[in-house]
Amino acid sequence: MTQNPFFEVWSTPFGVPPFDSIRPEHFPPAFDRAMKQQLAEISVITGSAERPSFGDTIEALERSGRLLDRVGRVFFNLQASNSDDALEAIARDYAPKLAQHQMRIALDPALFARIADLYARRADLGLAADQLRLLERYHLRLVRSGALLSVGQKARMATISERLATLHTLFAQNVLHDERDWQLILDETELDGLPVFARAAAKQAARERGIDGRYAVTLARSAVEPFLTFSSRRDLRQTLWEAWTARGTHEGASDNRPIIQEIIALRSEQARLLGYDNFADYRLDDTMAKTSAAVERLLTQVWEPAKEKAREERAALEAAARAEGLNETIAPWDWRYYAEKVRQAQYDLDEADVKPYFVLDNMVRAAFDTAGRLFDLSFIERPDIPVYHPDVRVWEVRDRAGAHIGLFLQDNFARPGKQSGAWSSRYRDQEALDAPVTPIVVNNTNFAKGEPTLLSFDDARTLFHEFGHGLHALLSRVRYRSQSGTAVRRDFVEFPSQIFEHWMSVPETLRTYARHCETGAPLPEDLLRRLLAAQTFNQGFATVEYTASALIDLELHRTAATVASDAARFEREFLQRMAVPAEIGLRHRLPHFQHLFAGGGYAAGYYAYLWAEVLEADGFAAFTEAGNVFDAELAARLKEIYSAGDTRDSMELFRAFRGREPTIAALLEQRGLTVAHCN
Ligand SMILES: [Zn+2]
Repeated sequence: MTQNPFFEVWSTPFGVPPFDSIRPEHFPPAFDRAMKQQLAEISVITGSAERPSFGDTIEALERSGRLLDRVGRVFFNLQASNSDDALEAIARDYAPKLAQHQMRIALDPALFARIADLYARRADLGLAADQLRLLERYHLRLVRSGALLSVGQKARMATISERLATLHTLFAQNVLHDERDWQLILDETELDGLPVFARAAAKQAARERGIDGRYAVTLARSAVEPFLTFSSRRDLRQTLWEAWTARGTHEGASDNRPIIQEIIALRSEQARLLGYDNFADYRLDDTMAKTSAAVERLLTQVWEPAKEKAREERAALEAAARAEGLNETIAPWDWRYYAEKVRQAQYDLDEADVKPYFVLDNMVRAAFDTAGRLFDLSFIERPDIPVYHPDVRVWEVRDRAGAHIGLFLQDNFARPGKQSGAWSSRYRDQEALDAPVTPIVVNNTNFAKGEPTLLSFDDARTLFHEFGHGLHALLSRVRYRSQSGTAVRRDFVEFPSQIFEHWMSVPETLRTYARHCETGAPLPEDLLRRLLAAQTFNQGFATVEYTASALIDLELHRTAATVASDAARFEREFLQRMAVPAEIGLRHRLPHFQHLFAGGGYAAGYYAYLWAEVLEADGFAAFTEAGNVFDAELAARLKEIYSAGDTRDSMELFRAFRGREPTIAALLEQRGLTVAHCN
């Protein structure tokens, strides 16, 4: 019997997972043992004859499930970043088992009795503020899982959770399947309009798929967007667009439409069991927004101004199209192409001229140095630390005094077996309950690899966004694991990431780090000026595309299950009723809307980005008002938010930083949606 690394002490630097010795077959026995171990730990807590104390119940819970945490984090991170058939099979097998395990603990009556007893006496326990909040959160979490329901209802809650875990896994795997299954293979003669970087990326993608001498455009967003922006072959743009938006809609084993229907019905049933009218009400009750009415208010505040701006944008696009001889209406596969023409004309900006100034390595350095100036961090590359794929790079993070803060991993390139999109995750969370534990953070993007790798302005923004999440985990200074870093409400978690994006596009950053990939020359001043002036360009499109997706998410989760029985029809009727411009559509169509269906995290929660943008735009305005985007005092106050994790209320944290509640004005200005005729 070979040894299982999960059952051994990790002697790697900083206890990073020993990736080089972990194999798929290690996971099932590790999961089995880890779940058993946690149940034994829970039965020690519930078996106590003593009146419950904070230490023997809440802190004991915090200490439970260590092995499960370790196995689960390695597994789910690898499954997202570096999947294969073996990991996918284990995910299908273990997702429902893990859900069942979680529910078994959450619905354990003896455990809840102890927590309820503590909760009732919480004012008299002499708890510190973080402890009181932790106790309240445990109590709320169990109530929201169904701890107050009858035995029969609890059983139903558990069955539903288990089934949902399976459905979420299938949904994600189906999208991955459709993305892996399709590529547009092109000859040299079919690349009309594509700039050098897009050709190089397509050549590399073909090579990775074993096709030499030709070009492949895959369904990764980082491959699709440039092709739709530059290819002058309208027929090929249409082919690509149709394949991209058809992910998850193909009849057969990878069809996500029946899965959506079942997910919506089950979520709705859970919400009703817990006494809510619908899933959105249930989900939003535990957010900053609180109610679906508050979310709707925010979304509708931007919806009409955004559509108005998009109408103006379309008129300019149509003029450009007519000048090129296209006399049809603008189709969804035309928007990016003509927008780029208009952008070039209006701002004299050519994406192909800009891109050579955004070298991936330089922008990574820019992100690190920004964190250095704002938060006193430094990053030292550690090529000696084992990784799970040669593309992954590791840095040790230190504070001003040189003390170790954590590890930061970056996995930047698109490849088969990696989920599309960009995300930040952790292999280990910061905590300090028994001893200081430092975080191990990983950021994923799907850039097209090149030599060197060049980013678009938006790619660079994404890099900073995910790095903001990474900092939220790295700067965490909490006692309890459950309150660590990003463990805040969903509509607050995007605040630290989105506000950090601003430092990518400030002139100080661009002047220093945006350097030509061949000559090393800085971005010319007039190009920089035009680049910044163009920041509100096409924001009507971007806001409509996003807000339409946020609105359909809200509506779907407010709807009675029967209405959503046909996902395609629901989508069609929504687009019509809301008068969503057909040439824009949804940023994510339902059959591949992973935020909603590859897990429950962003269900009835896609609005969170806009909610956080209200806070972030208003928050960054504090720096511009101070006349210094690196203002030390403001940076110190901002650092408090990154460090506090979930130890304090989100709005309270924001007020402590800004000195007041947020207003929406800065967001409207940031998106160029300021309405001139306000009353
Ligand atoms: Zn984010």
